[in-house]
Amino acid sequence: MQQRHAKIAIIGAGSAGLSAWHAAQKHTDDVVLIEAGAYGTTCARVGCMPSKLLIAAANAAHNARNAATFGVTVNDVAVDGQAVMARVKHERDRFVGNVLTSMKKIPESHRLQGHARFIDPHTLAIDEHTQLTAEAIIIATGSRPTWPKMLEAAGERLITNDDVFDWETLPESVAVVGPGVIGMELGQALSRLGVRTRTFGVGGAIGPLQSEKLRQLADEIFNRELYLDADASLDKIAPRDNAVAITFCERESGQTITETFDYVLAATGRQPNVDQLAIEHAGLTLDKRGMPEFNRFTMQCLTAQGTPSHIFIAGDANQSVPLLHEAITEGKIAGRNAADLNSVQAGQRNVPLSIVFTEPQMAIVGENRPTLEARYGGCGCIAEGGVSLTDQGRALVMGENHGYFTLYAEHGSGQFLGAELFGPHVEHIAHLLAWALEQKLTVSEMLAMPFYHPVIEEGLRSGLHDLQANLQQGSAITERCMECGPGD
Ligand SMILES: Cc1cc2nc3c(=O)[nH]c(=O)nc-3n(C[C@H](O)[C@H](O)[C@H](O)COP(=O)(O)OP(=O)(O)OC[C@H]3O[C@@H](n4cnc5c(N)ncnc54)[C@H](O)[C@@H]3O)c2cc1C
Repeated sequence: MQQRHAKIAIIGAGSAGLSAWHAAQKHTDDVVLIEAGAYGTTCARVGCMPSKLLIAAANAAHNARNAATFGVTVNDVAVDGQAVMARVKHERDRFVGNVLTSMKKIPESHRLQGHARFIDPHTLAIDEHTQLTAEAIIIATGSRPTWPKMLEAAGERLITNDDVFDWETLPESVAVVGPGVIGMELGQALSRLGVRTRTFGVGGAIGPLQSEKLRQLADEIFNRELYLDADASLDKIAPRDNAVAITFCERESGQTITETFDYVLAATGRQPNVDQLAIEHAGLTLDKRGMPEFNRFTMQCLTAQGTPSHIFIAGDANQSVPLLHEAITEGKIAGRNAADLNSVQAGQRNVPLSIVFTEPQMAIVGENRPTLEARYGGCGCIAEGGVSLTDQGRALVMGENHGYFTLYAEHGSGQFLGAELFGPHVEHIAHLLAWALEQKLTVSEMLAMPFYHPVIEEGLRSGLHDLQANLQQGSAITERCMECGPGD
């Protein structure tokens, strides 16, 4: 085995690893980036970007089919599966190409190809060819799809998002299991592209929505265009003639039926790639799941003795907030801190923001209601307001007048706390609200901002007025809520 030494070793050349590389490079040239698989990142290859490309095609088909709403006739809307997948892959390759171009700027002498695992806290084995010792190590190994054992009965017909974007053409039918973010995005896209789909979940969750009101609304609205049973019972899955047969209780009829699909798409969660690192040799405090304990402001792990370690963990690998912008932030913090172990600093974390690119879109800004309640210790300091988009002017203009915004603020201070959104193009509203939350604006301050006409933001203004009306004001409540609230 070749022996090497580096000041910093980064395991994983995904978005978090590359961000860590750029941050660390500002402080030292002695950084090695290790990658087991293909360069190009999960986001560009099989994640954020190809999923949005598929959604863009799906929405084009949907809009063409629904043009009659506006008095526009579009004859014979046909989806050419090969052309759809050709564009998805062509543009996906462009995004991957951009990553590869920037990868090339990292000198080959700073890159190692192979699977890294810990031999001891400072030593990594890379495949069987290199033993690398490092003063600091950043784990940025991402995550992979995971599924319940029962889905394995589908055999080779069981697929994940990793497979979808390599299709030559669209299949005839897909059963989507897991109506979370990935399942809802891909399930709706496939359905709009003319693929026969059924989406099954357990326990009633839809995307990231926590509010029961929004869940029920989402359930109703999505079911207008596709089959979604968020609390399904799947009795049997079995391979059948190059396909898979699923026996389930049909939602409307209550009948147990068996239907055949080309594929079962498992969108049932992702598992951090920490289990394949021989992490037990890293000398870290691990939780019950075998995951390293870490500080989310410094990304620093804890040694088994409970002291700060020279090992950092960033991106999906730490399973904290598995989103692209968070992976980049965490990589940056980890890279900076790994380069200067004697002065590890808390990095800036932004307020939570997550968006699901279905139609209507779903978004969460700040902490959701249960988390807020827990932080306030149930002291009744959270005010809620809301607005339905059913009669919202611009939404009506676009023929997308469905959805609801739920907004939260603190009684007394009137500080805006967060929102759960379900409606047309809420990706933009979600950003406005995240920026307001980041700036710690009060509801009054938000209402003092300009609102153009006619825009969906006017709907947001109505929701803010409702929230304002529900806010309890006065010095007594302000003092009480400042005391029981989470503070900064
Ligand atoms: C279908 C889908 C859609 C998504 N859509 C969005 C979206 O719209 N918006 C959003 O914000 N996020 C989205 N995400 C999430 C986003 O893609 C991830 O949060 C982000 O890509 C995580 O980056 P990462 O660097 O942590 O992991 P990755 O990019 O996966 O990088 C990890 C790297 O580590 C390598 N590796 C693993 N183990 C080892 C080892 N032992 N040795 C060496 N190398 C190793 C892997 O090969 C991989 O290249 C989506 C994800 C999916 C799957």
